[in-house]
Amino acid sequence: MSAVSRLFELYNLTLIMVLKYLPFTFISVHSEKMVKKKPKFGALPTLNLPKRSHDATKPAARPSRSVVNDDPLTQSSKKYYQSFYDLCKRVKTLKTLNDWIVQELEDRLVLKKKSSQVTLPEFEIMIDDSLGFTIYVYGWLLPEDHELYTTNLRSVTNITVSELVKSISTLSICPGVKPSELSSSIVHHVIPKSVDPFFVSDDDDDDDGSSFPHQEYWRTRGCEVLLGHGEQCCSCHQYSHKSELSKKAQQKKIAEPAHLFSPISQTAPERIKLTLQMQRLKCAELEQKLEEMKLEIQKSSVEVDHQLSQDITSILGKSDKNVTPFMNLFWQQQKKLLTRSSTGVRYHPMIIRYCLSLATKSPACYEELRKSKILVLPSQRTLKDYRNCIRPKAGFQEEVIEELKDSTNSYFDVQRYIVLLFDEMKIMSNLVFDKVTGELIGYLDLGDPDINFGTLEKVDEIASHALVFFIRGICIFPSIKDGAYFC
Ligand SMILES: [Zn+2]
Repeated sequence: MSAVSRLFELYNLTLIMVLKYLPFTFISVHSEKMVKKKPKFGALPTLNLPKRSHDATKPAARPSRSVVNDDPLTQSSKKYYQSFYDLCKRVKTLKTLNDWIVQELEDRLVLKKKSSQVTLPEFEIMIDDSLGFTIYVYGWLLPEDHELYTTNLRSVTNITVSELVKSISTLSICPGVKPSELSSSIVHHVIPKSVDPFFVSDDDDDDDGSSFPHQEYWRTRGCEVLLGHGEQCCSCHQYSHKSELSKKAQQKKIAEPAHLFSPISQTAPERIKLTLQMQRLKCAELEQKLEEMKLEIQKSSVEVDHQLSQDITSILGKSDKNVTPFMNLFWQQQKKLLTRSSTGVRYHPMIIRYCLSLATKSPACYEELRKSKILVLPSQRTLKDYRNCIRPKAGFQEEVIEELKDSTNSYFDVQRYIVLLFDEMKIMSNLVFDKVTGELIGYLDLGDPDINFGTLEKVDEIASHALVFFIRGICIFPSIKDGAYFC
C-alpha cells in the first residue's frame, strides 16, 4: 500500500491506476427511500419456482351437456287473455278505457285516445286476433325494438290492456329535433289540426293563418316517440348533439379566411371577405417593401461592367456541385469588392488568411495577381499589419509563448503531442537599420544580452546563419506556431 501511495505521490498517477492495486471492499448502503433485496451469495431461490404439471391441481371438469326443454306449462298458465273473443268481452267493461274509443272489428280491436285539437288520435292501440298489439302515436308507428314491445313480447297475453294503457299514459312524447338542414336521417312528422271553420279563435299561437293548420315535429328515423324519462329520446339526442357540433365547426370555419384557390361558388361570402381583407393587407405590405427596395437601390447602387457581372454569375451559377464553400465565399466577396469604392474596402477574415498564405509562399506572384486586377486583393502593406501583430525579434518571445498557451489550453491527450522543429538557414551577412526601434540588426544575437555576453566570444561579429524553432501539433495540423528566433 505505502509503496503504491508513494508511487502515486511521485508520479502523480491517476486514481484509476491506484485502484488497480487496491484490494476491493464492498460497502452496502441502505437508505430509507429504497431498499433493494439482493440474494445472498450462494443462497438457493425458494420463491416463484417453476412447477411440474403433475404437481399442480387440476381445474374442475365442465358439466356435461344436457337437452334444453321449453316449459310450455308455466307460460300458458300466466296468459291474461285466453282468446280474441275473451279479450273483446273483457275490454268493454274496463273503466280505464272511459276516455278511449273502442272499435271492435272482425279481425282486430282498435283502441283510440282522441285529442280535441288534432284530427289524428293521440294514441292508438291495435290488437289483432292473435293478440299481438301495435301502437301509434299521432299516426307514427312505435319502433319495433321499443321497450313497450320487448317487455311484453308484443302480446296482450303477457299484459292486461288496462296496464298497457296506464304505462302508455305515464310515458311522454319525444319533442323531436330542430332540423339544421334537410337530410335523409330526419323525417317530418306532421299532424293536421282539427279546426272549426265557423269558429276562428285568436288565441291560437301556432296558427299562422295557413290553409293547412298543423302541428309538426322533426324526428330521426329511429325515434322512440314514447319515452319514460329525459327530454329527448336517445336517437334524437344523438342527432341534436351531432348537428350542434357541426354547427359549431361551421361557425368556426366561417370565422377564418378561405384558401386562396378555393372555388368561389362553394365558399361562404364571409370567408371570401376575410380572404380579400387578408390579401389586401399582404399586398400593401409587399408594395411598401418594394418601394423601400427601389429607394435603397437608387441610393446605394454602383454600376458594374455588364460583361464582368455576367462572367461572375455564369461562373458561380453553372457548377454548384463542385463549388466548395470557400470558393463560393471567395467569389461572393470578389463580387462585393468590385462594387465598393477603393477607399472603404473591408476584407473578409477568410480572404485575409488566404492572401497571407499566398503572399508568404510567393510575394512576387501575389503582386502579379494583384496588379493585373484579375482579382481584388488586399495590398502587401495591409497584409503586413495582420502578419506582424507580434513584432518578430531575436530570442524567445513572451507574447508568442502566451499566445501558444492560450490557444492550447483546451487541448487534451493526443492533442498535446507536438514536434519541436529546428531549422537553420544561411543568411546574407549584413547590417540593417530598423527604423521602428532604431537598432542595427545583423550582429550575433541570442535574444537576451546576458546570454549573449555569457555564451558568445565575440558579440560584435556579424551573423551568418539563422535558427528557427517551431512547434507543430501531431494531431492538430493547423496549429503551426513560430517559437523563437536565434540570429
Ligand atoms: Zn325522438
